[in-house]
Amino acid sequence: MSIVFIISAPSGSGKSSIVAGILSHVTNLDFSISYTTRLPRGSEKNGREYFFVSVVVFEKMIRDGDFLEYATLFGNGGDYYGTACRFLEEAEQHGHDLLLDIDVQGAEQVKRKLPDAVSIFVLPPDRATLERRLRNRGSDSEDKISKRLATAAREIENYEKYDYILVNDRLDESIEDLKAIVLSRRLASSGAPLSEADKSMLQAAESFRLEQARERVKPIVASFMSQAQPGLP
Ligand code: 5GP
Repeated sequence: MSIVFIISAPSGSGKSSIVAGILSHVTNLDFSISYTTRLPRGSEKNGREYFFVSVVVFEKMIRDGDFLEYATLFGNGGDYYGTACRFLEEAEQHGHDLLLDIDVQGAEQVKRKLPDAVSIFVLPPDRATLERRLRNRGSDSEDKISKRLATAAREIENYEKYDYILVNDRLDESIEDLKAIVLSRRLASSGAPLSEADKSMLQAAESFRLEQARERVKPIVASFMSQAQPGLP
């Protein structure tokens, strides 16, 4: 049985870099390339970051039952995003695990269908850091940056629905932390005897469990809530 890992994070929290890092550090972990109706951005290529399809095609796929989950992201202009069932089927066939980079709504749907799926929420160290990162990208207007910050605050409110919480301060550390989570779940499901190194990895992974991370996460969440902008949807 493949293990399904779900990773969610507000935009600007460095999730894409963590995902790229984990895929190059962990073998037999496939990435589910989502379908979306939004237009490609920058250097994005069809079939690499996403499968870019029309609303007509996406809605036919919904009717045909092709999706494990799908959602409409209003912050993204009401575009559809969905995970095709076939990625999980293919991972199962190859004996691989599967990583999904999806939003909170998608994570909830997958958890309902696959209760053993492992969900991870990535947080920026605090609001000021997220704001700085969004600004440094230099690609967004001030208006867009404040909208992204408001969306981030709303998304972060959902962190308690996840199994593990990672705070992305340093990219290399976050990749190692996610690796510990992935490998520890593999170990747990294999039932193999544990070496000393395995035990310390399991211990590291446990420290990112929601229950252990709560105290660390509180001030981060507070930094977003205290500055949430009233009036924004
Ligand atoms: P972006 O348009 O910036 O690439 O992604 C916007 C959001 O869509 C991100 O939070 C990403 O995790 C989410 N997303 C990407 N693919 C899927 C998907 O297949 N299903 C769901 N529910 N969300 C997705």
